[in-house]
Amino acid sequence: MDEKDLNKERLELALEAAGLDLWENNLLTGEVTRKAMKTFGELGYNDQEVLHNLKHMLEFVHPDDLEMIQTAVHDHLAGRTPEYRCEFRLRSKAGTWIWYANYGRIMDANSTAPGQRFIGVTFNIDNRKRKEDEIAQINRKLAEQNTMLQSMNAALERLASSDALTGLANRRTLMELGAKECLRAARFSHSLSVLMVDLDSFKAVNDNWGHSVGDRVICAVADICRQRVREGVDVVARLGGEEFVVMLPEASLANAHLIAESLRQAVQEQRVDNEDGNPVPFTISIGVAALGAGGESFEQLLSHADKALYKAKQNGRNQVQIFAPLPHKPQLVPPAAANPG
Ligand code: GH3
Ligand code: MG
Ligand code: MG
Repeated sequence: MDEKDLNKERLELALEAAGLDLWENNLLTGEVTRKAMKTFGELGYNDQEVLHNLKHMLEFVHPDDLEMIQTAVHDHLAGRTPEYRCEFRLRSKAGTWIWYANYGRIMDANSTAPGQRFIGVTFNIDNRKRKEDEIAQINRKLAEQNTMLQSMNAALERLASSDALTGLANRRTLMELGAKECLRAARFSHSLSVLMVDLDSFKAVNDNWGHSVGDRVICAVADICRQRVREGVDVVARLGGEEFVVMLPEASLANAHLIAESLRQAVQEQRVDNEDGNPVPFTISIGVAALGAGGESFEQLLSHADKALYKAKQNGRNQVQIFAPLPHKPQLVPPAAANPG
């Protein structure tokens, strides 16, 4: 065996061990001088079919991959890439698509003449591609589940911060926002007012027309409050039962009083029907308070509004009352201390 045969033997072994299938084209004649026989065999075609019926591998390429192969070949032939590489699907005799890769290069090119021989190898990458597809599918599913989790978290957050019946802010949210507003009001010397709203004799509404009519009345009051305040500035919260708080940042006591009066009137004019279609009368009482110069806490502000509400109830309901602090008692100074000399 001469060295040439030995080299051929060595090359065959290396190609076989690496799963590579050698092909060669003559660029001048366009002839396929060595066909990728092993690849066609793998795809289920016999040697006769390959040698006599198959002209070119491109006939078996998936239509979606054709353009990409042609671009890769042209780029290499034009000298834009040092080698030709691409991945594509080939149709097996059974009609399935199998993934392969090509790696090739123009040989014997020199500075004066372009190369004539275009040689390369084809190898099966179907397993890798299927795994990549599986991973991509898993990633897509994970991304979908992630989006779902995010929207569930947002829904949970909404549920935790809002009242289920009316969709208004709940007590927890009100107290958080209220504390922040108190700090802001103190820092920028803004006013901050609150309205404590309570349905009048609501127990009688439930007793006379039933709980579900009572719920509709609660929702009607919630809607009126929501619709009549500044969106994104004021906060309407349901404290629980038939009690609401409207927080009005940068609203003076006088303005808050006007808003309270308009809410009271709107509720009085609002119609909610019972199951028989007859109107259910209902009214609200409101206590109004504003942050004083003393820098009270939000809890104290609410307690002031609650005191005013109590006064409204005592005075006959369906009315607005303003919290008035007790007049400041002057401290008696003992004469001796007043005039030590
Ligand atoms: P006042 O004018 O003094 O406020 O009298 P009131 O009857 O409104 O006050 P009271 O606190 O005695 O009764 C409040 C009623 O509100 C009692 C309770 O059954 C009812 N209530 C509390 N929460 C709900 C609710 O979610 N839905 C309904 N329908 N009723 C509720
Ligand atoms: Mg009530
Ligand atoms: Mg109440």
